[in-house]
Amino acid sequence: MQNNKGLNTICTHVGEVEDKEFKGAISPLYMSSSYAFDDVETKRYPRYFNTPNQEALCKKVAALEHVEAGLIFGSGMAAVSTTLLAFLRAGDHVVLQNALYGGTFNLVNEEFDKYGIEYSFTNGLKPDDFESKIKKNTKVIYVETPSNPLLKITDLNAVVAIAKRHGLISMIDNTFASPVNQNPADFGIDIIIHSATKYMGGHSDICAGAVASTRENINRIFHLAKNFGGSLSDQTVWLLERSMKTMGIRVKEQNKNAQRMAEFLFDHDDIAAVYYPGLPSHPDHELAKSQMRGFGGMLSFELNEAFDASLFQKSLQLIKPSMSLAGVESTMLSPTKTSHSLMQPEERERQGIKDGLIRFSVGIEEPEDLISDINQALEKVRLTVRSTTH
Ligand SMILES: *Cc1c(COP(=O)(O)O)cnc(C)c1O
Repeated sequence: MQNNKGLNTICTHVGEVEDKEFKGAISPLYMSSSYAFDDVETKRYPRYFNTPNQEALCKKVAALEHVEAGLIFGSGMAAVSTTLLAFLRAGDHVVLQNALYGGTFNLVNEEFDKYGIEYSFTNGLKPDDFESKIKKNTKVIYVETPSNPLLKITDLNAVVAIAKRHGLISMIDNTFASPVNQNPADFGIDIIIHSATKYMGGHSDICAGAVASTRENINRIFHLAKNFGGSLSDQTVWLLERSMKTMGIRVKEQNKNAQRMAEFLFDHDDIAAVYYPGLPSHPDHELAKSQMRGFGGMLSFELNEAFDASLFQKSLQLIKPSMSLAGVESTMLSPTKTSHSLMQPEERERQGIKDGLIRFSVGIEEPEDLISDINQALEKVRLTVRSTTH
């Protein structure tokens, strides 16, 4: 199967393992942790990231991200940590954007000193915020767009230009967009990282990670990966392949639903603010349009000041409270209580993450049902505001 096929064809077919024996429709699952070693070219072993099912799924990830090669990990953080450390050594410096997934921030903040790796977080997401942090020993520039939880957009063309000018490796966490909505390699970003726990898995039942890049970069990451040992069980690799067959149709539906939810919330009198790159009112709307095919299934919003955000979330009946995101089911959470609870309050405030902010991972349910759930929860919250003001 060629890589130059359309999105849903890649999702469905690229990389599939042919069932030569029984001609079954899907990839057979190879659970062996021990393979014959007479063929010295291919020493197969799960921790060498080269079982038949791992290799198959890597091809799908690579095709989806428009690059030569991929690697599947046991978690998104295994992918992030291995990739960063494959390109950084003691004495090197990395520039990372300040609005960053909490786990990645913790990795850098809690571990990098031990390895003698220097790091700087930007003050914002404008090109100058990155360029001003670059030092003589900077080797890597690391971005994440759209960002969590405010859906801010980083300019990929600008990041690539900075990376080229200073001879840096550029890396992106492309989890929130998914390859359905954004292909950073098309803009010249070197290495693309995913928490496959999110849109690639899509059903809140898999923890996995993925990296996509040139064959040369993937080989370099692989050399560290086999020593760190963060490979994914073949059973889960197989399940992830199955999930990714529907990623295109899932995410496109989530794009549509999120746009609808964002517009509904934006027009609602009880809502103070909505953050979604698909809204013309979003400060980065034009930038998002220039580098994304769809605006994604994530948004966040604030209720009117007088309203109790916790009570609102407790009153939801269909939309679940959930730590994670990107499943086919809609979920909400308070970043200050969960994903961003470890961040200093001053830093949260600097990034514009208010206490009442609610992050909404929009699923594939009928939008009318989501709207009535939000409306009935708002009704309950409104009643308590009225009763406490008496
Ligand atoms: C969840 C997430 C990660 C980490 O992935 P895990 O699979 O939980 O290790 C990294 N980046 C982003 C943007 C995420 O949402």
